[in-house]
Amino acid sequence: MSVAERFITHAVGNQVPPLGDTNLYQGDRVLREAIDREGAGWADAALAAFGAVAGGEMMACGFAANENRPKLKLFDRSGHRLDAVEFHPAYHRLMQLGMQHGVHAYAWRHADRAGAHVARAALFFMHYQADSGTCCPLTMTHAVVPALRHAPALAAEWLPRVGAFDYDARDLPAAGKGACTIGMGMTEKQGGSDVRANTTRALPQADGSYELVGHKWFFSAPMSDAWLVLAYAEGGITCFLMPRWRPDGSRNAIRLQRLKDKLGDWSNASSEAEFEGASCQRVGDEGRGVATILEMVSLTRLDCMTGSAGLMRQALVQALHHARHREAFGKRLVEQPLMANVLADLALEVEAATALAMRVARAVDARARDPAEAALARIATAIGKYWICKRAPAFVNEAQECLGGAGYVEESSLPRLYRQAPLNSIWEGCGNIQCLDVLRALAKEPETRAAFFAEVGAARGAHRALDAEVAWLAEALDDRATLEVRARRVVERMALMLQAALLLRAGNDTVAEAFCASRLGGQHGAAFGTLAPGPAIDALIERAAPAP
Ligand SMILES: Cc1cc2nc3c(=O)[nH]c(=O)nc-3n(C[C@H](O)[C@H](O)[C@H](O)COP(=O)(O)OP(=O)(O)OC[C@H]3O[C@@H](n4cnc5c(N)ncnc54)[C@H](O)[C@@H]3O)c2cc1C
Repeated sequence: MSVAERFITHAVGNQVPPLGDTNLYQGDRVLREAIDREGAGWADAALAAFGAVAGGEMMACGFAANENRPKLKLFDRSGHRLDAVEFHPAYHRLMQLGMQHGVHAYAWRHADRAGAHVARAALFFMHYQADSGTCCPLTMTHAVVPALRHAPALAAEWLPRVGAFDYDARDLPAAGKGACTIGMGMTEKQGGSDVRANTTRALPQADGSYELVGHKWFFSAPMSDAWLVLAYAEGGITCFLMPRWRPDGSRNAIRLQRLKDKLGDWSNASSEAEFEGASCQRVGDEGRGVATILEMVSLTRLDCMTGSAGLMRQALVQALHHARHREAFGKRLVEQPLMANVLADLALEVEAATALAMRVARAVDARARDPAEAALARIATAIGKYWICKRAPAFVNEAQECLGGAGYVEESSLPRLYRQAPLNSIWEGCGNIQCLDVLRALAKEPETRAAFFAEVGAARGAHRALDAEVAWLAEALDDRATLEVRARRVVERMALMLQAALLLRAGNDTVAEAFCASRLGGQHGAAFGTLAPGPAIDALIERAAPAP
C-alpha cells in the first residue's frame, strides 16, 4: 500500500448530483396547465424563454446576490451626500434579465390581450424561484401603474419609463433614463397596518407641488427612481409621487438612515428614511391617499401569493431532486413509502397554491371587463394572500427536511428559501389584516360574497366534502357577532374551498380527490406527509418532477 493510499479516509458516495439548468416553465407541468386554464397559453413562447433564463443563469445570480448583501453609501469620499445603496453585480444582472423579459411590465404591454396578468404572474412565479429579493422592486414597479393613472400628467411622463423592458441602474434624474423602477413608502415607526397613524406631513408649494417632512420605517428598494408615499396634507391622508431627484436636477431631500438587518431577503435592501422637505407631486385627491395606494397594494398582494407559490415550487423541486438520487436503507428516498407521502403532500400543496394564484391573476386581469371577476379579485386576493403566504414557512421547512442535514446548509439553497418564506405573510398586510380585509369586503361589498359562492358553486356536486364546506360557510358568515374572532378559521376554510373547487374543475380526478379528502375531508394530520395511502401519492410525485 502506497503512502497516499494509506491516508485515503473514504470515497465520496451517495451524494446528489447538481440539479443543473432547468426550464422553470417547460419543466413545470402544473404551472403550464394553470397558464392554459386561465387563458394565457398565447404567452407560451415568452414564458418558455424566461423559464430557461430563470432556471439557468439567474439561479447562479441568485446565490451570488444573496451572498453579497447590499451596502449603504451615505456619502461620497468628499463628504457629499449620496443616500445610495451599492449592490453586487449579480443583483443588477437579475434586475436586467427580469426587466428585459417584462417581469415588471408584461401585463401592461399586453393589456389588450385577455390573460396578460396571468402570463405576467407566471413570469413573477419563475423569477421568485431564482431570487426573491429583486422581486421586491419588480412587483412595486408593476403595481404602481393603476395608482399613478390618478395623476394623468405624471402618468404620461413616468409610465413609458416604467413600462420599458429594460433596466437602467444609473443614479440619475429619471428624465435622463430610459427605464425606471418605483418603490412605496407607507409604514412608519408608530404604525404599519394602521397607516392612518402616519405623521409625515405634506406642505403645499406655490407651484402645485408639495414638500414632505417626516419619515418611513420600512422603505424597501431605496435605489428606486421614485416612490408612492403616504403623507398628511390639509385634506387628509394623501398619496404622492416622490422622485429620487428633483426636477431641477438636484438630489431630493430623502435621507437614508440605515439598512434593515433582515432575517432574509438579503439580495434586496430595505431602509429607514427621513424626508427633510422632499419634493413630490400629488397622486389622486387630498384625503384619498389610502384608496389610491390600495390600487397598488392589491397588485403587490397578488404577487405575495404568486411569489410564495413559486418559493414552494422551488423548495419542492430541490426536495424531489434530492430524494430521487439519495439512498437510505437500500432504496432511493423517493421509493421509501413515508418519504413519498411527504413529497406528494408537498406537491399537492403546490398544485393548490399555483391554481389559486393563477386564478386570482385571471380575476385581476378581467376585472375591468367583468364586475363579477372584479368582485372575485377583491375577496380572493385577501384570501389567497393569507393562506398561501401562511403555508410557505412550514412548507419550506418540510422540504428542507427532505434533504436531511444538507437542507440546513447554504449551498443547498433551502436555508435561503426558508429565511424568505415568512416575508410575504408580513409584508403588505400581515395575516390578521388579510382576514379582517375579507370580512370588510363581505360587509361593504356584498357582491364579493356572491362572487365567492359562484366560484366555489361552479364545482357543486363534484365532491361531497366541498358541498358540505360550502353549506357550513353560509351559516358561519351569518353569525356576525363572533365573526372577527373566528376570522382566521373562516378565511382558511374559504381558501381551501377555492383551491378544492379549482382542482376539481381542472379535471385531474386523482389530484382533486387527494386534495378534498385531505384538506376538506379530515383525512390529514397537522404536518405534511399525512395523505391517505393510494395512487395519488405516485401520481403527484410524477406530475411535480422537474424536467430539463
Ligand atoms: C422585508 C420587509 C420589507 C418591507 N418593505 C416595505 C416598504 O417598502 N414599504 C412599506 O411601506 N412597508 C414595508 N414593509 C412594512 C410592512 O408592510 C409592515 O411591517 C406590515 O404592514 C406590518 O406593519 P407593522 O410592522 O407596523 O406591524 P403592526 O401594524 O404593528 O402589526 C403587528 C401585528 O398586529 C396585527 N394587527 C394589527 N392590527 C390588528 C387588528 N386590528 N386586529 C388583529 N391584529 C392586528 C398585525 O396583523 C401584525 O401581526 C416591509 C416589511 C418587511 C418585513
